Amino acid sequence: MNDMMASHGAPPTGSPVASAAGRPPVDREALAGALRALLGPRFMTEASDVEPYLVDWRRRYFGRAIGVASPQSADEAAQVVRLCVAHGAPVVPQGGNTGLSGGATPDDQGDAVVVSLRRMNRIRAVDPVNDTVTVEAGVLLAEVQRAAADAGRLFPLSLAAEGSCTVGGNLATNAGGVQVLRYGNARELCLGLEVVTPTGEVWDGLRGLRKDNTGYDLRDLFIGAEGTLGLITAATLKMFPRPAAQVTALAAVGSPRDGVELLALAKAALGPTLTAFELFSPLCLSLVLKHFPTEQAPFGEPHPQYVLLECSDAESEAHARERFETLLADAIDAGLVRDAAVAASVAQSRALWRLRELISEAQAHEGKNIKHDVALPISEIANFVEATDRLLADRFPGVRMVTFGHLGDGNLHYNVSPPEGAAPGSADQDAFLALQPAINEVVHDSVVAHRGSISAEHGLGQLRRDENRRYKSSVEMGMMRAIKSALDPKGLFNPGKVL
Ligand code: FAD
Repeated sequence: MNDMMASHGAPPTGSPVASAAGRPPVDREALAGALRALLGPRFMTEASDVEPYLVDWRRRYFGRAIGVASPQSADEAAQVVRLCVAHGAPVVPQGGNTGLSGGATPDDQGDAVVVSLRRMNRIRAVDPVNDTVTVEAGVLLAEVQRAAADAGRLFPLSLAAEGSCTVGGNLATNAGGVQVLRYGNARELCLGLEVVTPTGEVWDGLRGLRKDNTGYDLRDLFIGAEGTLGLITAATLKMFPRPAAQVTALAAVGSPRDGVELLALAKAALGPTLTAFELFSPLCLSLVLKHFPTEQAPFGEPHPQYVLLECSDAESEAHARERFETLLADAIDAGLVRDAAVAASVAQSRALWRLRELISEAQAHEGKNIKHDVALPISEIANFVEATDRLLADRFPGVRMVTFGHLGDGNLHYNVSPPEGAAPGSADQDAFLALQPAINEVVHDSVVAHRGSISAEHGLGQLRRDENRRYKSSVEMGMMRAIKSALDPKGLFNPGKVL
């Protein structure tokens, strides 16, 4: 089998084929030939080569494509775009393919070209005086962190997929992660971009400026656009001083409401040195301990909720520890904290973080679940959890809410698992999954009633595209469509995503 156009069930090549997505026909063979002439082996069509690019991380979306193009420079990427546009073929940008909303997977029409940025993986410049690092879009997040560390600086964006995801993907999804509370999300860490526009031009906006009021902020249009407005090919990112020490603690609290009160106390006591504030429920912890039996909880008895706090101190570990212990003692005196454990070593700190980071994987071991990545005003979080737990329990008896997330950023992963005993792959699980639209509606209606957002950090992709229409006003949708058609009049950039 030579050609994925055939191997993936696309119509036979040789003549233009109309797309069921309503796009004009694409002469796939001619475009494949032109891309092969431009990129040589960096345009792949072999089924075994392209397969991994056609399915998303969670294996929920499967697409088809003419092939996968891997440009090595912005100019080459621009030529790829110009060829695709000339042939009327959709362009689907892809980085590490770790996104959780199906944004990097082409649709099933088979007329798209996946443009992988992974070969654009050079660190172009590190400027310690300006505290910036300029990298190509395909650099892995972990490598940016390393480049900053080598310069004695910190690049704070950090998430569990950092060994696989790319800067381009982080910016295109405006990724969050565990240190947003202190440093902001990807948008706030980016000063400039280089972009290939849907017309195939290169915009060099790689400015390392912290102030630049010279018109519309084009950079912010591309950040969070999930590849629907252009290809990000490079970025200038902010670096920060490295903290002298990081100390982690786990606190047991009585409820999400107490967690929110503890957050206010911790912010007042620790100021900007509070770098993470994560909430998780006892069900989250018990799933981690069940599926990862080598992990241990630091408390002898279960508690109603847990908060993981991290303090990054500019002075010393002793200083950080002292401030942490004072905070926790005050919180115990105030009746907010029932028990607390402060990590005494890096190993203990990692062990506490694992209790938080293994939750998604532990929940996956229980079988399929229905995920929600929601943002709320912090002042509404407790009301949201109480109200939504009640609504779901009344309407879908037995379902289990696996609630955890970045409380400090007002971001909850409000995931719903089937009733206990529904074995993975069983009919009970299938029946549960059939409830997904109804459960989504209950959760997202409740999010919006509490003035929140149905996607905090995972984007819309294909997963939340239609639901988004339900919640955004026609004014907002109209402006989004106007921006899309101004920049991408042929609608060829990542069609079917976001809008
Ligand atoms: P991809 O998955 O390849 O693409 C994602 C989207 O960006 C797609 O729409 C794609 O078309 C577009 N895109 C990619 N590259 C470009 C480019 N160069 N130009 C234009 N568009 C582009 N996210 C969080 O925010 N916080 C977390 O804590 C978090 N934890 C995660 C943990 C795990 C285990 C996993 C698997 C994912 C997690 N994510 C998290 C999801 C997160 O969105 C991605 O990990 C990451 O930001 C996407 O980067 P990527 O390079 O893999 O992008």
